[in-house]
Amino acid sequence: MVSLPWSTQLAENLAGLKIAGRYRQPRVRLGEQGVEVVVDGHKLVSFCSNDYLGLANHSTLKNAFINAVEREGVGAGAAHLLTGHSRYHQQLEQALADFTGQQRVILFSSGYQANMGVIDGLMARGDLILQDKLNHASLLDGGRLSAAKQLRYRHADMAGLTRRLKQSDAQNNSLIVSDGVFSMDGDLSPLPELVSLAKNYNAALFIDDAHGFGVLGDKGRGSVEHWQIAQHEMPIEMGTFGKAFGTAGAFVAGDALVIETLIQQSRTYVYTTAQPPAIAAATLASLKLVQDENWRREKLTALINQFRQGAKSLGLNLMASHTPIQPVLIGDDKQAIKIGKFLEEKGLLVGVIRPPTVPEGSARLRITLSANHSEQQVKKLLDALETICTLK
Ligand code: PMP
Repeated sequence: MVSLPWSTQLAENLAGLKIAGRYRQPRVRLGEQGVEVVVDGHKLVSFCSNDYLGLANHSTLKNAFINAVEREGVGAGAAHLLTGHSRYHQQLEQALADFTGQQRVILFSSGYQANMGVIDGLMARGDLILQDKLNHASLLDGGRLSAAKQLRYRHADMAGLTRRLKQSDAQNNSLIVSDGVFSMDGDLSPLPELVSLAKNYNAALFIDDAHGFGVLGDKGRGSVEHWQIAQHEMPIEMGTFGKAFGTAGAFVAGDALVIETLIQQSRTYVYTTAQPPAIAAATLASLKLVQDENWRREKLTALINQFRQGAKSLGLNLMASHTPIQPVLIGDDKQAIKIGKFLEEKGLLVGVIRPPTVPEGSARLRITLSANHSEQQVKKLLDALETICTLK
């Protein structure tokens, strides 16, 4: 065994995380992803996946996946620009261009890579990237990878963003970057204002709609459909498949010049293995369900309303979210862990989110709803929250 010269430092750091209640560990899940999971040997009702439409274990997706494996094997075996780009990838890109109404689409093997790839692929030294402070880590890391200057504005603060746009050198290219639905708060970005600011200041706009696609809009077309953004004002859009679509990977949709540039210049596209073709085949199947089965979004809306009404009457500290991400703000890390443990003892699994994922002093239960939850399961969660709240 070789230990690092600074292993004492590593051990001290890990011990510090444990004392602060910030140590995190993966849990082992047995069986399918779904609203009922077996984690570390315990059967629990899960309120912490991003499988919002309940498609991760859907038989149609499984069959599409298995058929594709029979025809094309398991691994893509190479990057898209070599022999990794299968007919399923090609079909999925075309289907997503039709779905989003954008000219072209490029697939990435993960959302993390898509975000890094767009920002690094489009922005160069002398350019300016403007990001909401609560943007996902992969967007912020995309800015770090690029040689462009990166500034952040306060969450959803359009006046702050305007000031930064005004200060920017007109010769630079500017890119405004925002989550469409904020992953830890569940609220929406003010997309119409972002579109008009981008227009007024000759900037481009890039929206990470990882939590919007499949969930928002009648057809699940995400933030752009929700806010009814006109075709000619569409931002560059990113969506992931690991959430509402129930599979894995991601896409970016935009005009042909943008996508062609990304194909040439995105390091996280060029230098990585394509996602397995069977994942693209399963995503094609899920895209059809996302578009056709509006009842999943209607059911989600009903569950969201049930949860919010119940939680409000308990006096819980909810956030301004009408999406399936329904955080309950706790504040103190250890208190949040205590509540999470109590819920788990009652057979309920919620995400306990602490800094650095969220700002200091804003630890929370990240409760997420799925179209496959029942009213009874949501009621059980509310009952348990009521018990722990009156214990406090
Ligand atoms: N953007 C947002 C807003 C996310 O929440 C996530 C995943 N948590 C990603 C990007 C990364 O996507 P992926 O999991 O496909 O890497």
